[in-house]
Amino acid sequence: MKAIIIGSGISGLTAACYLVKSGWEVTIYEQFNKIGGVTGQIEKEGYIWDLGQMLVEGFGPGEPVGLIFSELGIADKIKTIRTERAYVFPDFDLYKPEKSSDFFWRREKFKKLFPDDADGIDKYYKFYIKMMEIVTLARKAEYSKGLKSIFLKIKMFLKLLPVLPKMKWNSQKMMEHFFKSEKLQAVFLTILADFVTPPTQFVGLGVPFINPEASFDELVPLKISKTGIHPSYRYILGGMGSMVDVLVKTIEEGGGKLYVNKTVKRILIENGAAKGILCEDETKEMADLILASGGAREILLDTIGKKHLPEDFVLKVKDIPLMESILMVHLGIDFDPTPHQKLSTVYYYGTYDIDKAIKECRIGKYHEGREGFVIFIPTIFSPELAPSGHHALTVYTIAPNILDKGSWEERKEELAEKLLIEAEKVIPSLRENAKAKVILTPEDFKKITHLKHHAFGGMAPIMGKSGIPHKTPIKNLWFIGAQSESGAGLPNIISDTSRTMKRIFKEFKKS
Ligand SMILES: Cc1cc2nc3c(=O)[nH]c(=O)nc-3n(C[C@H](O)[C@H](O)[C@H](O)COP(=O)(O)OP(=O)(O)OC[C@H]3O[C@@H](n4cnc5c(N)ncnc54)[C@H](O)[C@@H]3O)c2cc1C
Repeated sequence: MKAIIIGSGISGLTAACYLVKSGWEVTIYEQFNKIGGVTGQIEKEGYIWDLGQMLVEGFGPGEPVGLIFSELGIADKIKTIRTERAYVFPDFDLYKPEKSSDFFWRREKFKKLFPDDADGIDKYYKFYIKMMEIVTLARKAEYSKGLKSIFLKIKMFLKLLPVLPKMKWNSQKMMEHFFKSEKLQAVFLTILADFVTPPTQFVGLGVPFINPEASFDELVPLKISKTGIHPSYRYILGGMGSMVDVLVKTIEEGGGKLYVNKTVKRILIENGAAKGILCEDETKEMADLILASGGAREILLDTIGKKHLPEDFVLKVKDIPLMESILMVHLGIDFDPTPHQKLSTVYYYGTYDIDKAIKECRIGKYHEGREGFVIFIPTIFSPELAPSGHHALTVYTIAPNILDKGSWEERKEELAEKLLIEAEKVIPSLRENAKAKVILTPEDFKKITHLKHHAFGGMAPIMGKSGIPHKTPIKNLWFIGAQSESGAGLPNIISDTSRTMKRIFKEFKKS
């Protein structure tokens, strides 16, 4: 059997690994000049930076992505280390204490910072444990069979029952339920800026999952109760590129082919079934199965054409809520930044009004770095990403695709400068000591990912909305990746692509 994959991001590479392992012939077509999509890397003057990810969730042994890598036989080739991130707010920071007597040190720190909310804080942490228990049971049920799976599902349902009345609450309402302090509410909601999703539109029961406690302290045990396990946060040594290299090697060893600079302009349809692809350079290839990743509108409407698709599906594709983009400045520096930022990944927030900040971003008002940014220093873990004694670091923040004043092309240098001025409040003299600089605007990301609207993490997790189903109305055409029903984020995409491949294999076996 032969498959074609459109796009070499993490979704396409994961799918290809499953296919070659099952004896399929596979070809990947990538429009950019490099493999990897936003998990690719960029290089300049001896420095290497990741385009996308920083820390990843659930990649450890026995965790969801770790299990998938074991299934694919590559777990021991992708080296990760457990690590943590920190948040800094205008009037307090959430660095872990030097010595902690409590695994839930954040809970105790919050009680000191917000004594009026002490009861609510205890309640929130009970809720946190319960939600982690529910997810752990769901995951165990997925990997179990027969009676054991049924038993786990019943146990999960019983735990879910008391939280069911909160099912329709948005995350703002959920935080108001636990905390009076708006600042404390913001602590748990600011990460939604990364999803460019206002708290009033994000599901309340999702709050614990966007604030996994283990992501703030690498020493917090992952088992937090008799049944509950929360995910670890890890850095992939060598950066995302080292994971991409392992996946590519697996595909090539399995006989798969990968092409860059090949844009698929048409998916060829005959009698309601996908039969092949046609590239912009007129390369044509036929296959039994086509897996497409990338932009839902671009792939499903532009390369197929509405006439081949049912009206309700076209409406669904048009309706998909997308995140906004980012402004990213990669620097190569010749000094040690760790006296100023000791952790690899720190989020600096300049506002507590995250709802307003996100809504403004969605209408093109760019905050110029004042409302928040992230500084990531991968060379803390992987010094080989920079010349000896130097560091590679990245400063980024969310940014609109279209600016309300001027264009990204005109304002690229000016807005990168402004972002670095904000970052210099943390690490002084960044600009003066920069030996290499790469600025990536939303316009650049559009080119890298072949999107008309660059969505940082793909589909925005807006309540009541879902991504495009993997199984499309066109026979033998499946849609995967960040704008599919997987939703955003590497762990979701990898896990969901794995599930989808198993579904596809079952369907092909039946027919
Ligand atoms: C800066 C940044 C930070 C992030 N941080 C995190 C994080 O901390 N945690 C997390 O979980 N997630 C994070 N994400 C999100 C996550 O990285 C992405 O959701 C995920 O990698 C997307 O994978 P994908 O395969 O769906 O898409 P992509 O990586 O975009 O790959 C799709 C590929 O398809 C190609 N393509 C599209 N159309 C065509 C065509 N017609 N012909 C040929 N090729 C085509 C594109 O060029 C692209 O290479 C981050 C993303 C970014 C950008």
